[in-house]
Amino acid sequence: MLQTYRYSTLQETDFERLLARNTDPSRGIEQLVMEIIGDVKTNGDAALKKYAEKFDGVQLTRLYLEANEIASLASTIGREQQRALEIAFANIYRFHETQLRKERSIETMPGVKCWREPRPIEKVGLYIPGGSAVLPSTLLMLGVPARIAGCKEIVVCSPPQADGKINGYIAYCLQLLKIDRIYLVGGAQAVAAMAYGTESVPRVDKIFGPGNQYVTKAKSLLQGLTNVSIDMPAGPSEVLVIADDSANPEYVAADLLAQAEHGADSQAILVSTNEQLIDKVQVTLKTQLALLPRAAVAEKALANSYAILCANLEEAIAFSNQYAPEHLIIETDNWVPLLRKVSNAGSVFVGHLTPESVGDYASGTNHTLPTSGYARSYSGVSVDAFVKKITFQHLTAEGLRNIGPTVEILAELEGLQAHKNAVSVRLH
Ligand code: NAD
Repeated sequence: MLQTYRYSTLQETDFERLLARNTDPSRGIEQLVMEIIGDVKTNGDAALKKYAEKFDGVQLTRLYLEANEIASLASTIGREQQRALEIAFANIYRFHETQLRKERSIETMPGVKCWREPRPIEKVGLYIPGGSAVLPSTLLMLGVPARIAGCKEIVVCSPPQADGKINGYIAYCLQLLKIDRIYLVGGAQAVAAMAYGTESVPRVDKIFGPGNQYVTKAKSLLQGLTNVSIDMPAGPSEVLVIADDSANPEYVAADLLAQAEHGADSQAILVSTNEQLIDKVQVTLKTQLALLPRAAVAEKALANSYAILCANLEEAIAFSNQYAPEHLIIETDNWVPLLRKVSNAGSVFVGHLTPESVGDYASGTNHTLPTSGYARSYSGVSVDAFVKKITFQHLTAEGLRNIGPTVEILAELEGLQAHKNAVSVRLH
């Protein structure tokens, strides 16, 4: 089921092929997304309604739902589901609120004081995927840090469902987050709407959220075309599982399938030091897959996935660091010494009893994470992503005397006389 490769025999070209994912070599997606962006920029709401009909199959007269409609949808969900969303909300809140730590002010020289303070980004846009599966968990993952940061305006976009509404779980999360409007817009057109603004959708300063290849491409393109910024390229989901002979094949197979069911373009990679384990996982994958409602999607994703057989855990970690997975699961007894060797990953799950699903939903960590190798340079979403950090400084007369001559010399050696003067007029 999973094609297996031996790490020691991989050539450079194999690495290139195995590490690449979600590339757009023919630039077909880019071209399509550019057309959508241009259309939304020019035609605003009319373009959004046209795409809702084309891609989501619904005719919308109004592009948003308001508090009373949200409340009525939220009231349709069961108490058990409400409780689960409340626990997830509380854990995500608890983990993220520690991220707003106050930094110390530093005296770099006597009388020269420097410090940094966070300020919320005023208007943020949250994209909540809703194509193949509706993800209320993503609303919590983005809404909670936005609320903790203190963002003034939180614009939420999600594709309309077949009935032209949103589902009750999304509605309940909106209530938990005290957000009283949601825009029924999906795909690249939602990202364009939040970047340019339309008659209905407000323009924002920064756009957050995962999505399919159209959404991710629109975010990357609009970051260059406008002065909106983005959290990161968070595209089709992926997992890499490192498993040695202590791993349970049932658990490993379940973890791979949990990722594969996201979408046909998801990837689930198994890296193991044990050939028998790979064989057992292959067998178990078939059994578990047959029982999944989303088997067809998961099967396509597995066809696009693979296993790597390594001589030891050093090689396994080396491959993982090259792949830079969004999610890394380490299913070994002795995982502690491996952790410091992990240099590229979005979020890491360690031990035999830590399925990725707990982080997807409710343990507290964020599930909006960099994909496609971007974990080499991007972090997942956190409260930090919703604030700017502004530096401040203050000099006393002693401070000016201490630092002034140095600045005069540096300004002069760069030939910037006015810079020198701004110090000299105060100092002499
Ligand atoms: P989505 O909301 O991202 O996309 C649905 C929208 O895509 C539709 O409303 C439509 O407007 C647009 N679309 C569909 N077909 C199109 C076409 N042919 N041309 C142009 N636009 C089209 O929902 P999805 O498709 O279910 O994708 C969700 C993605 O999010 C998955 O790939 C999943 O793996 C990923 N995800 C990633 C993370 C992360 O942190 N990286 C987290 C959760 C989900």
